[in-house]
Amino acid sequence: MSAQDVAQLIYLASAILFVVGLKRLTKVRTAQAGNMIAGIAMLLAVVGALVEYQIFSYQWIAIGLIAGSAIGAFAAQRVPMTEMPEMVAIFNGVGGAASGLVALSVFWGEIVEKSVTGTMAASMGADAAVTLFLSIIIGMVTLTGSVVAYLKLSGKISGSPILIPGRHVINALLLIGSLGAGVYMAFMSTGLDQTVSLALGVSAAAALLGVLLVIPIGGADMPVVISLLNSYSGVAASATGFIIGNKVLIISGAMVGAAGLILTQIMCVAMNRSLANVVFGGFGEEGGGGGKSGEYENVTSCGPEEAAMILENASSVIVVPGYGLAVAQAQHAVRELADLLEKNGAEVRYAIHPVAGRMPGHMNVLLAEADVPYEQLVEMDEINPEFAQTDVVIVIGANDVVNPASLTDQESPIYGMPILEVHHAQTVFVIKRGLGSGFAGVKNELFERDNTMMVFGDAKKVIQGLTSELKESVPGLAA
Ligand code: NDP
Repeated sequence: MSAQDVAQLIYLASAILFVVGLKRLTKVRTAQAGNMIAGIAMLLAVVGALVEYQIFSYQWIAIGLIAGSAIGAFAAQRVPMTEMPEMVAIFNGVGGAASGLVALSVFWGEIVEKSVTGTMAASMGADAAVTLFLSIIIGMVTLTGSVVAYLKLSGKISGSPILIPGRHVINALLLIGSLGAGVYMAFMSTGLDQTVSLALGVSAAAALLGVLLVIPIGGADMPVVISLLNSYSGVAASATGFIIGNKVLIISGAMVGAAGLILTQIMCVAMNRSLANVVFGGFGEEGGGGGKSGEYENVTSCGPEEAAMILENASSVIVVPGYGLAVAQAQHAVRELADLLEKNGAEVRYAIHPVAGRMPGHMNVLLAEADVPYEQLVEMDEINPEFAQTDVVIVIGANDVVNPASLTDQESPIYGMPILEVHHAQTVFVIKRGLGSGFAGVKNELFERDNTMMVFGDAKKVIQGLTSELKESVPGLAA
């Protein structure tokens, strides 16, 4: 068996492991193992490449492996869950940069070093020439777009949309210009100097395009953009796989491209927004999308003591977690309260909205961190008919995902977004710090409903308050 055959077998094993890993990532329970399997697949891909290209000088490879693993392990340990979107943004950017740089290095090796004076297509084949400039364009857009997304999410630059006049025309010109220059570079340019200038020009135009595409998008829409950039990084990797003839790169890139696109679509559907509206909309402008954000009248509020008295007699309780739960890091406190309520004889479940929080699966991950039993997490469609038969709903730091205006107010920017219909429950406690709006920046009619009681304060402190009140008032629970 030749080294080539061995490499192909390793690639096959790697591709299979990527598929298995991705499949396992779809469930909280198997996600950790899935991540590990995908990591092994990546290692195999590297080993396959070493065998295929007969690289016997492992010095740089070893340094790269050690440095990359150390940085990855350090970042994974240090980054809190709420900063995960920023981390994914960096990963996407690095992925895009890697694809673009590999394409440029192939360009250097095949065209510049060989002093090719004819067209690139004649020298390296039309398909390789096309995928080369596509890889440069997509890679560079992903790199700079991800950097801007990271800066916005981390608050290093303003999160509000920066709307440059005529931006759509500028972006269209940059896209058409870089594609046109790429085609010219691949099929028409003959002088070496001219081809090199075109390669650099295409890289610069694509880099600028990445910045201009992301800068008009509001910070709160970044998770959708990051998911889209994730998809781009996959497509860039796949294109690079075609250039260097690496099958596992083509397969894994295509999987990332498709997965990113599916995730983007799921987020858009759950927010009732089109992808075009996210990408071109400037949503988040003027405090987040307009709509009714007026003053509240008839808001009833109570303290933890009063709320605990009602909870004490509840036999069914549904917890609705939202972004504020993540901000307050109240997941462990919630688990403790739920344990207590169960001990008191209540049935406790958690209602999960697909876009609660700021990234897909945000709530599932948070609650899993506090060892909330997975069976207690119920998806929106399944739990909605249950609210009418529920004694108490505790909304914790959630706002838009429980706003009934999305069902009735056609003027509302969230009109049509499916919500958790908590307003049908007998009593609804809403725990948040004040009457501030959520991501969409609109007034929430739920807060004025007769069956709603606001419990103002930081989610963690309020939940801890409820827990100690319950322990005090129900003898035997504290034990
Ligand atoms: P929202 O953003 O609607 O509301 C969160 C609420 O949490 C705020 O109103 C805030 O109110 C409260 N809050 C903040 N900090 C605390 C704290 N420490 N303690 C208690 N409360 C706190 O969150 P939802 O989860 O309901 O909705 C998610 C929104 O994000 C949706 O509009 C969705 O479309 C959007 N989105 C989601 C994405 C995803 O993938 N999940 C991606 C992109 C956007 P106050 O200031 O009064 O405390």
